[in-house]
Formats: sequence, structure tokens, C-alpha cells
Amino acid sequence: MKDDRSLQELELLVVARLYGLAEARGVVAKHLQDQTLHETQEVASVEEQPRTDALHPLASRASRLVPSMNWDELRETVRTCQLCGLCKQRKQAVFGVGHESAPWLFIGEGPGADEDEQGEPFVGQAGRLLDSMLAAVGIQRGREAYIANVVKCRPPGNRTPTPQEAAACAPYLDRQIELIKPRLIVALGKTAATRLLDTEASLASLRGRVHRYKGTPLVVTYHPAYLLRSLPEKAKAWEDLVFARRVLRESA
Ligand code: SF4
Repeated sequence: MKDDRSLQELELLVVARLYGLAEARGVVAKHLQDQTLHETQEVASVEEQPRTDALHPLASRASRLVPSMNWDELRETVRTCQLCGLCKQRKQAVFGVGHESAPWLFIGEGPGADEDEQGEPFVGQAGRLLDSMLAAVGIQRGREAYIANVVKCRPPGNRTPTPQEAAACAPYLDRQIELIKPRLIVALGKTAATRLLDTEASLASLRGRVHRYKGTPLVVTYHPAYLLRSLPEKAKAWEDLVFARRVLRESA
């Protein structure tokens, strides 16, 4: 029952916004409030189950709404999303940052503690490394690049997101990609590569080649957090970025 209310809220929020209702959330809240009395008895009889990493039953229905959202609708939907268990411990969802028509799209794994705190991807030590790597190939965050993650909410203890969590969050990332229309996607690390290429192949075997994500060229490199622990791999990441820059130039 609570799931149905969540979906209704999502649907109504979109509809209210489409009709230009400034107080969309208030309209939705009132509509849902009207139903609450009828549902109280049933809700009370069902013990609340904590969400695990199983795919939320609303995910497939939400995925039908998300592809028509604009940036504001998408941002607000992500901000209040509860489609997977990662919503439980987040301080805030981390949507993404950068130029909304950027030629470069960098996709990492998920927010860490700093990102959860500040609401922006790649702001900690790994973020500083990413920024300096981007600067080395002439890319500036917010100007030529957009940065997002496979999941928008921090996995507890910075663990790897489960495939179910990545799947629940997939419509949001897919919609970001559609809206940005990047000329090149760079998958940062195995989680991003697995999600976007639907393969379990090793990261090493995916590097140095041009892949495609729904027609957009995609290259794979190491996640900056991994590079912080494995300094010798930095040279390989540099090679990957130089390769990516060449791919982008040749695609012009
Ligand atoms: S990780 Fe994605 S699907 Fe899960 S709660 Fe956050 S925004 Fe929703």
C-alpha cells in the first residue's frame, strides 16, 4: 500500500508539474492524505519490511515515467526517490553535476561520504584526482564535462552497489544521458562499465577500445578511488584519457 502511494506521488508530481502547478508537492500531498484514512487499517496489519537490495516493485513502472521528464522533474524525483534500500541511510541523493549539454560524460559508481555530505559527485580525494586528470587533458568540470554516478545514493560503508540497486537507479542515469546527449561517455571503474555495457568482462579487457552505449561512443578507465590505492595504474588512466580525447576528436 505504501508502495502504491509512492508511485501515485511520483505520477501526480509529474502531472502537476506538467500543468504548471507551482505547489505541485502540496497538491500531491493533499490527494494522498485523502486516501490515508481508507488505508490505515490495512497498513497496520502489515509489518513494515525493510527494503533490501531486491529490485523495488515500482521500479519498472517508474521507468515508464522517467523517460519523459525534464531536468527539474528528474532532479526532484531523484531527490525524493525511495526505489531501493540506499535511500535509508543517505543524507541526500547526489544527482550529478556539470554542463547539461557537455560533450564529455563521466560516470562513476556511487556517492561516498563527502559526496553524501555535500550533494555533489566526486568532491573528496578521488574527486580532486579526477579534476586534475581532466585538467591535464584540457577538460574543466562544469564546462566541458558532466559527472554522474550509477547510483545516486551512498551505499553504506562505500560498498559496491548491488546489481539490483544499479538497476533501480538505471532510469535516472539513462534519462541524464538522453538529456545531455554527450559525444563521449567515460565509464569510471568496473561498476559503471558493467552497468553501461551489460558485461562482466574485466576492466582491463575493456580498456583501450571504443564501445557504444545506445550509439554513443564509450571508453572505459579506472575509477579515481582505485587509482588512489594503486598509483602505478595512474599512467594507464592517463593513456585512457588521451585515447578518449582522440576518440572524441575523431567523432567530430
Ligand atoms: S540509489 Fe537511485 S534508485 Fe536507489 S533510492 Fe537512490 S535515487 Fe532511488
